[in-house]
Amino acid sequence: MRATVIHGPNDIRIEDVPDARIQQPTDAVVRVVNACICGSDLWAYRGVASREAGQRIGHEFLGVVEEVGPQVRGFKAGDFVVAPFVWSDGTCDFCREGLQTSCPHGGFWGQVGSDGGQGEAVRVPFADGTLVQLPKEAAGDEKLLPGLLSLSDVMATGHHAAVSAGVTPGSTVAVVGDGAVGLCGVLAAHRLGAGRIIALGRHQVRTDIARKFGATDVVAERGEDAIEKVKELTGGQGAHAVLEAVGTEESMRTAISIARDGGAVGYVGVPHGGSAGVDIGQMFGRNVQLRGGVAPARAYIPELLPDVLSGKIDPGLVFDRTVDLDGVPEGYRAMDNRSALKVRISF
Ligand SMILES: [Zn+2]
Repeated sequence: MRATVIHGPNDIRIEDVPDARIQQPTDAVVRVVNACICGSDLWAYRGVASREAGQRIGHEFLGVVEEVGPQVRGFKAGDFVVAPFVWSDGTCDFCREGLQTSCPHGGFWGQVGSDGGQGEAVRVPFADGTLVQLPKEAAGDEKLLPGLLSLSDVMATGHHAAVSAGVTPGSTVAVVGDGAVGLCGVLAAHRLGAGRIIALGRHQVRTDIARKFGATDVVAERGEDAIEKVKELTGGQGAHAVLEAVGTEESMRTAISIARDGGAVGYVGVPHGGSAGVDIGQMFGRNVQLRGGVAPARAYIPELLPDVLSGKIDPGLVFDRTVDLDGVPEGYRAMDNRSALKVRISF
């Protein structure tokens, strides 16, 4: 089979790799229908996050089950499924509490020795704990596929930011980051009933999507000017809930500064700027809380899925380009130079 492999910074290749196959009785093999490139893949692409030469990459996919191991109970060949961006056993204390990302038997697609999502097929460990069943007829529905694919990561992660920040009906929300996760955070906040949603971003293609997703205000300023602008829009108080979807020192500083006293920041941007943006003294004096982290997508998919299927939300709008497997290296380039927001891979 063929799959995407990373050899070093700016070096993404499509190569022949060993076929995905059942290795454990709890495994399934999934033939990938759609996958995508994540903003977090770019950290590896840019050489900021290190990878072994020849490592697989990609952690978002949906597909059709091709084969299951003898101990798999919930899935059979032909089922259409979505995979969250980590696998998990579904039975341990953390999995039962909805924090599948802390499963001691869990792992991340593309980690050394595992298949990545950006390939023709994937060996899925702990299929019963990991995969979520989708309606079979959706497999051929081009209109529905992007939204279903977003459940793998970006929509679930945006939702995690909103839940962590404590978005409640009527609350004022601010979202730092105009990437796919930030935009999904806007959509998640809207879905949870936020009264006002201020999206921070300066690229019109992105802020247009933010408005479609429910943003009531857009702030194009950055740094201190952005902080001032959000304060101005909120009567000097700031937002009840702030969603941080970037992961840099500056974005964290902005997020904490625009939180209202007693408010909370839900952070889901993979931290790449150290902790200098977290001013604990300011947070103490103003009772600002900080929650979040890596999103347990597996816990959220069952809640979000019906709204995607019914068309109540369409997070698939974050995909603005579709490539085939051979187009993946170009897809990375396009996301790296920000000419594409999020690239879908159709097999
Ligand atoms: Zn577990």
